[in-house]
Amino acid sequence: MQKKFLIFGAHPDDPDLMFGGTALKLIKAGHAVKFVSVTNGCAGHHILSEEELIPRRYEEAQASAKILGLEEYQIMDNPDGRLENTLKNREDITRIIRNFRPDVVITHRLCDYHPDHRITAQLVLDTSFLLRVPRFCPDTPVPDHNPVFAHSFDAFTDPRPIRADAFVDIEEVVEVKYKLVDCHKSQFYEWLPWVDLNEKNFSAEGWSWQKKMEYLEKHWGWRFKAQAKMTNGKAKHYAEIFEYSPYGRNVSPEEFQALFEP
Ligand SMILES: [Zn+2]
Repeated sequence: MQKKFLIFGAHPDDPDLMFGGTALKLIKAGHAVKFVSVTNGCAGHHILSEEELIPRRYEEAQASAKILGLEEYQIMDNPDGRLENTLKNREDITRIIRNFRPDVVITHRLCDYHPDHRITAQLVLDTSFLLRVPRFCPDTPVPDHNPVFAHSFDAFTDPRPIRADAFVDIEEVVEVKYKLVDCHKSQFYEWLPWVDLNEKNFSAEGWSWQKKMEYLEKHWGWRFKAQAKMTNGKAKHYAEIFEYSPYGRNVSPEEFQALFEP
């Protein structure tokens, strides 16, 4: 039976990092995946204006969606860096979940360092009960089954590290996962070198795919390797892990792992 997965990241590129490898495997097996960026990504550049950046990041997300075969890569019109936990956003996210009717909803954790990530997590968790309340957003019918809620990897340890309640070995798709990351050129070859790597004149102009992949692996591959280390040797090199949230439909640990298997 086809399963449906709905991923809420704060920025256009977060869902790719959170779920890209798992999405590739699930979609290949016939399951449906939708990505949502809760902000439009308008703050993620040191040179481009918001007016230039918003359509560019939209196109980058659509390029990634095409490689993946997503149902949709939706970009909500909230400003990057200024996301707020408003009633409108709670209602919008409730409608997105009700309309897509997912089996699993995945988002960030509440202890993330980025305010947009935290507020995305809060907004998504805040819908988990209201999804079932017909008088909340009465224009959008309540689905007949409640989704399971889950969190994707981060490296934060306070108040506690994330648990690997489920994992997916992504080694066989890791190069394609880097192709998804590569779609977000304004980020991985422009903004992130400037803001995170202190490379003020970075350029990947003329680089071969091999060189790009080595660069992506060097600076972002640690995330997928750290997740593999959390699987007790079951995934050797690269994994995506997921933590169960008690807020949605209750499932056993075995059922939770089985949800992510193609
Ligand atoms: Zn982000």
